[in-house]
Amino acid sequence: MAGTPPRLEIRNIVRRFGGRNVVDGVSLQVQPGQVTCLLGPSGCGKSTTLRIIAGVDMQNSGEIYVDGKLVCDTIHRVPPEGRGIGLMFQDFALFPHLTIAQNVAFGLKGSAAQKRARVEELLSRVGLLHYAEEHPHQLSGGEQQRVALARALAPRPRIMLMDEPFSGLDNRLRDDIRDETLAVLKEEGTAVLLVTHEPDEAMRMADEIALMRDGRIVQQGAPYNIYNTPVDRAAAAFFSDIN
Ligand code: ADP
Ligand code: MG
Repeated sequence: MAGTPPRLEIRNIVRRFGGRNVVDGVSLQVQPGQVTCLLGPSGCGKSTTLRIIAGVDMQNSGEIYVDGKLVCDTIHRVPPEGRGIGLMFQDFALFPHLTIAQNVAFGLKGSAAQKRARVEELLSRVGLLHYAEEHPHQLSGGEQQRVALARALAPRPRIMLMDEPFSGLDNRLRDDIRDETLAVLKEEGTAVLLVTHEPDEAMRMADEIALMRDGRIVQQGAPYNIYNTPVDRAAAAFFSDIN
């Protein structure tokens, strides 16, 4: 019996800039309904890896599969919009002149009734249905972030790529928003690859952590395994300032 393929799999991704392998043979899997964290210090190649998966940058070698289907190697290349991948970055800018509902509906396909139903479903899920007819500037940073999450999820991406999505937020808000975001992602059943340089964020949100350093995955596993059994001194030191 053939097993279900991972939702996302990348194999041996290499990306060179100026003769240096910024991403140096990264392989990863993300399972349906799970959050995988790509965790590592600034400059280790996390964002580059994510951009390649999204299709806005191109690897020098290696392959990307979605649900077992090749979407990109050095010969075949499915364009970004054909990959079933949603994106959320730190700079989540909403369209200021559109209402919250219009922001979430933006780019959705289907009839007006279908779009309205999906927008209402998502705005309820993030607890902001009462703001549907307001404009972004009337919302707090945390609320805008939740709208951005609703917008990214609206077209039902099979995979959500998130690059340090919480780093622009106030410390006080961050834990709450992390928890809320995680709950929404789990309800939607979206597979998530979350990039962060913060170990506590990975410990809080991940089902699986891939620890990255100098363009390579140095350790991968369940959060408590990585925390309790770091692969080397550098990995131990990286986790040591979690409180
Ligand atoms: P991270 O997201 O882990 O902080 P990045 O993937 O942004 O790391 O960057 C990894 C390394 O690649 C850095 O040294 C960065 O300067 C370099 N880099 C990223 N993009 C480019 C580019 N377009 N041209 C040259 N170097 C780049
Ligand atoms: Mg980055």
